[in-house]
Amino acid sequence: MSSSTDHTVVSVSPQHPSDEVTRAAAASPEQVRAAAETARAAQREWVDMPPVSRAGALHDAAGAVEGAAAELTALMVREAGKPIGESTGEVARSVAILRYYAQQVLDPDGETYPSAGGLLMARHRPRGVAGLITPWNFPAAIPLWKAAPALAYGNGVLLKPAPEATAMAQRLVELLGPALPDGLLSVLPGGAGTGEAVVEAVDAVSFTGSVAAGETVRVAAARRGVPAQCEMGGQNPSIVLPDADVRHAAATIASAAMGYAGQKCTATSRVVVVGDPAEFTAALVDAVEELKVDDPARAGVQVGPVITEAARATVLDAVARVRSDGGRVLTGGHALDREGFFVAPTLIDRVRPSHVAAQEEVFGPFCVVLPAGSVQEAVQLANGVRYGLAAAVFTADLGAALEVSGRLDAGLVKVNAPTSGVDFYAPFGGEKSSSYGPREQGKAARDFYTSVHTVTVMSA
Ligand code: NAD
Repeated sequence: MSSSTDHTVVSVSPQHPSDEVTRAAAASPEQVRAAAETARAAQREWVDMPPVSRAGALHDAAGAVEGAAAELTALMVREAGKPIGESTGEVARSVAILRYYAQQVLDPDGETYPSAGGLLMARHRPRGVAGLITPWNFPAAIPLWKAAPALAYGNGVLLKPAPEATAMAQRLVELLGPALPDGLLSVLPGGAGTGEAVVEAVDAVSFTGSVAAGETVRVAAARRGVPAQCEMGGQNPSIVLPDADVRHAAATIASAAMGYAGQKCTATSRVVVVGDPAEFTAALVDAVEELKVDDPARAGVQVGPVITEAARATVLDAVARVRSDGGRVLTGGHALDREGFFVAPTLIDRVRPSHVAAQEEVFGPFCVVLPAGSVQEAVQLANGVRYGLAAAVFTADLGAALEVSGRLDAGLVKVNAPTSGVDFYAPFGGEKSSSYGPREQGKAARDFYTSVHTVTVMSA
C-alpha cells in the first residue's frame, strides 16, 4: 500500500497494489529551504518579465499539459484509481485552469481612488513564494488550481503533494517547468514532515486536505505570521423535498455519493429525505446498485477502489459500528473479493443524526439516509455537523429551492444538482470547520496570492 516515512514516499496503484507507481526520497527541511531560496530568486526574474511574456509562458504550460493529456489520464487512473472518464475530465479541466489564469495575468491589477491633486491607487503585488500542500484525490486539478493563480499573480511555488499522488505531481512540474524560469516552480515529495518544513519556508500557504492536518498547518502559519488558506473535509448533505423528481434525484445523489468511490471532498455523505422516506430510499438503493464498480481503467466504470488498505478499513469499521449500534445496511457494507482496495458502495439508515457515521467524514463510498418530518427539521439536520463544504436541495419548487439553499451552512449550494463538482472560474470554499481563509479559484484567488499596496503620487 502507499506509505510514507520520514525519508521515502511510495505510491502504488490502488486497483493493483503490487504495481509500485513511484518511490521518491522525501525532501528534507534543508532541501525545502534551498528550494524556497531558489524560487525567491526566480520569482524576481518572473515579475520583471513583461506581463504578455508571463501570460505566454502560462499558455505554453497549458499546451504542454494538453499535449500530454493521454499520458496524464493514464497515470491518474493508475496512481489515484480515478475512473477513466473522470480522469479524462480532470486533465481537460487542468488545461482550462492554466489557460484561464494565463489570461488573468493581463487583467487590471488594482484600482484608482479620487485624490486631491495627485494619483491614489491600490496595486496588487505578489506575496513572494507560495507553499502548496495538496491531497491525492484531485492529483492534477488541485495542484494546478493553486499553482496557476500563484504563478499568474507573480509568485514562485513550492508544491508538496500527498505521498499517494507523488508521480502525478512530479510529471506536472516536469511539463510546466520548461515554460518558466528555472526553480520558479518545484515539487517537494514527502509526508507531513516535508509539509511542515514548507510552511516554515514560504510567504503564503495554501493547503487542501483533512481537517486535522489543516488545523496544524494554519496554526503553524499563524505562528509565523504568514497568510494561510485551508480547504478541508466535508459531511455534505443532499435534502430531498417531497416534490422532487425521484428518479433524477436518486441517480444524481447515487453518483455524487459513490462516484470515484466517494473520495471527493464534495461527495454527498448524508441524504435528508423530507416526509416518508420509503419510496425515495428504495429508488436510491436501486440507483446505487446500478453504478458500475470495476477496474477504473475500464470505460464506463463509475466506482473504482479506495486509495489505500487503511481507507478501506475506515469504511468497513464505520459499517461495523453502524451495525453494532442498531443501524441498517441498505446495500453494500463489505469489501469486494478481488485484487485492490474495493468496497461495495454502501448505504446506511436507521442511525441517529448524532451518530458518528452521520457526523464525521468517512471518505469512501459510504452514505447515510436520514428522515426529516419537515423542511425546517431537514435544514437543522443538514446544518447539524461541524463541516460546511457543499450541500444540495432537490425540489420542483423554485421558492423552496431559494428558501432552503439560503439557510444551508455550506460554501457551495446546488439545486437539483450533485454536491460534487466545481466550476474553476467561480469562488470555491467552505464554512465552519471545512474552510479557513479566503476563497480559492476564479478571481477570488487573487486576494490570497497578492497583497495590496496603496500608493499616493503627488506632483513635485
Ligand atoms: P491529508 O490531510 O492526509 O493530507 C493532505 C496533505 O497534507 C498531504 O500532502 C499531506 O502530506 C500533508 N500533511 C499532512 N499532515 C501535515 C502537517 N502536519 N503539516 C503539513 N502538511 C501535512 O489528506 P488526504 O488524505 O491527502 O486527502 C483527503 C482529505 O482532503 C479529505 O479530508 C478531503 O475531504 C480533503 N479534501 C478537501 C478538498 C477541499 O477543497 N475542501 C478537496 C479535496 C480533498
